[in-house]
Amino acid sequence: MAKGYELELVHLTKRYGETVAVHDLNHSFAPGSYVCLLGPSGCGKSSTLRMIAGHEDVSDGSIVLDGQDVSWMTPAQRGTAMMFQSYALFPHLSVRDNVAFSLRMKGVDKDTRHKRANELLDLVDMTHLADRLPTQLSGGQQQRVALARALITEPKVLLLDEPLSALDPFLRIRMRAELKKLQRELGITFIHVTHGQDEALALADEIVVMNNAVIEQAGPARDVWAAPRTEFVARFIGGHNVIALDGGKATVRADAVTLAAEGMPATVTAVEYQGASVAVTTRTDGGDEVLALLPEDQFFASPKSPGEAVRLNWDEGRLHRLQA
Ligand code: ADP
Repeated sequence: MAKGYELELVHLTKRYGETVAVHDLNHSFAPGSYVCLLGPSGCGKSSTLRMIAGHEDVSDGSIVLDGQDVSWMTPAQRGTAMMFQSYALFPHLSVRDNVAFSLRMKGVDKDTRHKRANELLDLVDMTHLADRLPTQLSGGQQQRVALARALITEPKVLLLDEPLSALDPFLRIRMRAELKKLQRELGITFIHVTHGQDEALALADEIVVMNNAVIEQAGPARDVWAAPRTEFVARFIGGHNVIALDGGKATVRADAVTLAAEGMPATVTAVEYQGASVAVTTRTDGGDEVLALLPEDQFFASPKSPGEAVRLNWDEGRLHRLQA
């Protein structure tokens, strides 16, 4: 089907009156990649996505898709498609007619659009439910229909606004595997907004972490996880300890911390059994909270309880300095 296209944000800015929702973003999305825009509520993710989609005007800067400035084009002209959190399916139309809807708007004849809708329904494994109404579907099935409906226009880029947030945790994990598979098969760029770091790590080739209207860090998921640049990213991505060190700050991953005879003095404040590992929360004499995620056999070889004094250790190479 479609191939990947390059998408570039150039000094992209969004203001709502006095509020600067997106401030001077410059970023290039690699063709055919799965990108997650990750950040806390209010950081500007949805505004960024809506501007790329063409559902929101750009205040400043531009959006360049496949070498063309699309900033002022309609969504149909620019070749993007958006899947909404609520799916926004038409309740009175069958699954097939929902999927075929945008082709009907374009004046495509009934046979052609039904044939095309059937192909898309096949792609998302929904052929057998083509004649149902949206209310007769489960959440996961509605989501597949919404995906098929967005993809029928053969978009250059698919934009997904918190696509999994309406699903229960079990279905969320299943559907995210399906999204990833679909993106690989289609080879187009997916840009997926989420505030869940586990979702971003599971899905993304590239994670773009936003905070306060700017991009705080962008890179391959493993790089962002292994080397958060700022304290914000370290805390938001999780699994890291932020420690005061030599007048600056550093991180060490919770799974790199061990309890040893030598090391930084601390007191255990909580112990949580997690199955494969045990989470031991401590407070250092310097006042930092440090989590040690220990393999369960290691923990039970020398169990600790809250109130006990311990020493925290890690390989020097695992300590990672943060930007001021
Ligand atoms: P996120 O998707 O990360 O939660 P948003 O892009 O929705 O963030 O919002 C970024 C900022 O812009 C927030 O401060 C929000 O209150 C504000 N904002 C978003 N949409 C509007 C709007 N239509 N009118 C005024 N302010 C808005």
